[in-house]
Amino acid sequence: MRTVQEAIQHLIAPLQQTSSENLPIQEVLGRVLAEDVIATHDLPPFANSSMDGYAIIHADLVSIPVTLTVIEDIPAGHHPMRTVQRGQAARIMTGAPIPHGADTVVPVEYTGNERHTPDVPTTVTIQRAVSYGSNIRAAGEDVKQGEVVLRAGRRLRAADIGILAGLGYSTANVHKRPVIAILSTGDELLTPEQPLQLGKIRDMNGYTLPALVQTFGGKALSLGIVRDTKEDVRQKFSEALEQNPDLIVSSAGVSVGAFDVVKAVLEEMGQLEFWKVNMRPGKPLTVGQIERVPFIGLPGNPVSAMVTFMVFVRPMIAKMLGQSTDMPTQNVIAGEIIESDGRMTFARVRLVHENGQTRAYLTGTQSSGAISSLVKADALLIIPAGTKRIEEGEIAQVWPLDI
Ligand code: AMP
Ligand code: MG
Repeated sequence: MRTVQEAIQHLIAPLQQTSSENLPIQEVLGRVLAEDVIATHDLPPFANSSMDGYAIIHADLVSIPVTLTVIEDIPAGHHPMRTVQRGQAARIMTGAPIPHGADTVVPVEYTGNERHTPDVPTTVTIQRAVSYGSNIRAAGEDVKQGEVVLRAGRRLRAADIGILAGLGYSTANVHKRPVIAILSTGDELLTPEQPLQLGKIRDMNGYTLPALVQTFGGKALSLGIVRDTKEDVRQKFSEALEQNPDLIVSSAGVSVGAFDVVKAVLEEMGQLEFWKVNMRPGKPLTVGQIERVPFIGLPGNPVSAMVTFMVFVRPMIAKMLGQSTDMPTQNVIAGEIIESDGRMTFARVRLVHENGQTRAYLTGTQSSGAISSLVKADALLIIPAGTKRIEEGEIAQVWPLDI
């Protein structure tokens, strides 16, 4: 049986990055950059005041109070016309360029006034000194021209969109989202709209898996429910192929039940590459391809389906987006004894912050059918293959579920 790492390697090895598309920056939140972004100019582009006040020469502050002649008024967005000389000040607003000659800005609050008046005074008396260079934001203090501000593979956040705008980029080159076709197999499945009937349950994987696709930066094609017959599975696979997906994912029907037909249809229409991975939950993972499109048959239990999706499909999406394929883990302290059977295990845990530590506690039942164990969980705790027990107080790795 393959290890989790072997299975991941097998799946990601043949994948190529998706091509890129140039989109308006208003549309790239959550999308993944396809190329580095370089600062076309300094930020801020010119030295400017960080306060409403007076631009002065620091040497004039040797004895306080001092009265200076106001030579001009510099609102934000305007260009200073005059050079400040000894004994002079220019009234200046936040964000306005520092005039020639001035080396320091004194806030208006230090001149005996709480705020600037609409008309410019002819003189100003400074009543409190500031240190040399105060309240001036130097050109390039934030970002230097030529600097790489965002790297390819970066999932864009609000602040990133701000830096793009600030540097004059109205569009960004982002990876096309990998398209992932999702289908749920099972005679027992109903949609959420359908009334419950004896022996039936509602499809959950058909909703959790597309949500995970979206979380990880892909585009889900939801193909709905398929009955446990070869004809139905065949037909849905063909339907999936028509949409040219980067990956086809099904859930259920890959175990050893009498009606587990997914594997049989895969062998008939494409190739079965392997079946079963040494992990818990989620052993009966089915991997292959249909007409050169990679295929993954996930186990049907809702927790197994989600966990195996995270473990195997996330790195595939990440590779196609030019991102790291490593599991995004962090260290915490086990809050209690956590056991496994020696298979690589993904336990559902709550994270509790106690006395400066983050401690992990199981979310109760670890049944792979119990979706509530994932709803309550803050993270998956990873028990490596070969480890049967993590002691209370030991360091353990978790994959946070901030999704
Ligand atoms: P199977 O892999 O077909 O044996 O399914 C394993 C378990 O998962 C069974 O209890 C199924 O009823 C359940 N199951 C399968 N597909 C889904 C689904 N889409 N949503 C919720 N539960 C499912
Ligand atoms: Mg089934």
